[in-house]
Amino acid sequence: MLLLECNDLSFSYHTHTGEIPVIKSVSFRIQKGEFVSIVGPSGCGKSTLLGLLTGILSPEEGEIKIHYKQEGTQSFYGYMLQQDHLLEWYDIWDNVCLGPKINHCLDTDCKEYLHTLLTRYQLDAFAHKKPSQLSGGMRQRAALIRTLAMKPELLYLDEPFSALDYQNRLNAADDIGKIIQKEGKTAVLVTHDIGEAISLSSRVLVLSRRPSTIIKEFVLPFQNTGLSSLEIRNLPDFSTYFNLIWKELNTT
Ligand code: ADP
Ligand code: MG
Repeated sequence: MLLLECNDLSFSYHTHTGEIPVIKSVSFRIQKGEFVSIVGPSGCGKSTLLGLLTGILSPEEGEIKIHYKQEGTQSFYGYMLQQDHLLEWYDIWDNVCLGPKINHCLDTDCKEYLHTLLTRYQLDAFAHKKPSQLSGGMRQRAALIRTLAMKPELLYLDEPFSALDYQNRLNAADDIGKIIQKEGKTAVLVTHDIGEAISLSSRVLVLSRRPSTIIKEFVLPFQNTGLSSLEIRNLPDFSTYFNLIWKELNTT
């Protein structure tokens, strides 16, 4: 089922020193249940592209079509960033309740849902701790649960693991991948990390340098095999795809 389509998106920043073309004729479609990664070099326009998808920025050309019927207080998308933006003066419970509270829908069902998520993803014992008492990986899980609170259909993830060191990054990506799969969400991840993209996604779109356009699409066979992202990293085919994508990124 088609959830989202972008047709011929273009965008430039206008600064006092001139125009910076960032996104050029980008088109793609996202089906319900897919995990799509968009990889590209730093500064190519990945965050800008998510800005367009979330409506924070408006495209100069092209259009974004959303094929989704909103129900109740459910939001179409949730947005997760590199910094977890957990509020230090709140405990984890108050942090994950923030969205529903602001939207006046923190009812018994919602609280129960959030309790279930915290328990399911090993954070229930930390509900009344402050964010600074949690590890980086746990904070990212808490940030994801906060994002899931409004029951979004689609998750936008902007390099959510890049602030973590290597070991924690692998584990956090593995955890987040499992949560997204178990909760049956559709996800669009932007990252400059090829391994992260391959180990989590059913499809990878490769962006060129600025002005960014999609230069290649890879459909990956690893999702729905029951393997975790850590296990996928150990498959022989993982490095085959890694090299293919690496080559694409380095020849543009
Ligand atoms: P990425 O997320 O891929 O690293 P960004 O989307 O953040 O890239 O930025 C793409 C390009 O646009 C970069 O060259 C960046 O310097 C520039 N840029 C980002 N935000 C602004 C802005 N608000 N004004 C002007 N230029 C910007
Ligand atoms: Mg960015």
